[in-house]
Amino acid sequence: MPDRRGLLIILSSPSGAGKSTLSRRLMAWDPTIAFSVSATTRRPRPGEVDGRDYHFLSEEEFKRAVAAGEMLEHAHVFGHFYGSPRAAVQEAIEAGKDVLFDIDWQGAQQIRNSALGLHTLSIFLLPPSIRELRRRLESRGQDSPEVIARRMQKSWDEISHWDGYDFVLINDDLDLTERRLITIVEATRLRRIQQPGLTEHVRRLHREFEEMT
Ligand code: ADP
Ligand code: 5GP
Repeated sequence: MPDRRGLLIILSSPSGAGKSTLSRRLMAWDPTIAFSVSATTRRPRPGEVDGRDYHFLSEEEFKRAVAAGEMLEHAHVFGHFYGSPRAAVQEAIEAGKDVLFDIDWQGAQQIRNSALGLHTLSIFLLPPSIRELRRRLESRGQDSPEVIARRMQKSWDEISHWDGYDFVLINDDLDLTERRLITIVEATRLRRIQQPGLTEHVRRLHREFEEMT
């Protein structure tokens, strides 16, 4: 049995608040953290690679996977289906690795309510202001003005679910947010429930205690 159980780390925010940036930084800090590559029915953006950024599926393929119980959670976001394949997550956490999810509030809620809910750490990122959120979406330069307008429209819907998360970070200064994110992950790894080896350790302490007294 590994020393610790893997955590399911969920990062949610309105689009443009910094999930992808902070996910990259968290995985650079600890490369053993596995990223849950979601499945989606939306088209790839320039530069996105199938199997690395997303598993790009047709709607039929996606619905088949859901019907077969292959998705840990799934949701309809911005007119497309998104979901987290279950097998990769199960494999990673059984090996004692954390898994990072960049998913919306619907997915976060479903995972929290699943059998893996006890091993979940959920973090919500808020932008410092709505003006700055729009500036970040525009400066990312990946989406058309129409897509940006749609994402801005949806941002309040996502923000309104901020209070369902364990932690909330205002992503103003990027370095500070990164440091806080790492602190939260380090502390949560030490939760009793994440350390299956503790019972055996205490048993050993007890045997030693009995021998010495
Ligand atoms: P999301 O994944 O939530 O849609 P991104 O991580 O793609 O958001 O960030 C959107 C844009 O904002 C990117 O261009 C990124 O470099 C920038 N960004 C992220 N965090 C900050 C921050 N704290 N300060 C300034 N710019 C940021
Ligand atoms: P994007 O199209 O910008 O990559 O993602 C759009 C939204 O879908 C983001 O809020 C992102 O967090 C969410 N998302 C991405 N993958 C999943 C997933 O597997 N499940 C759910 N519920 N949401 C996802």
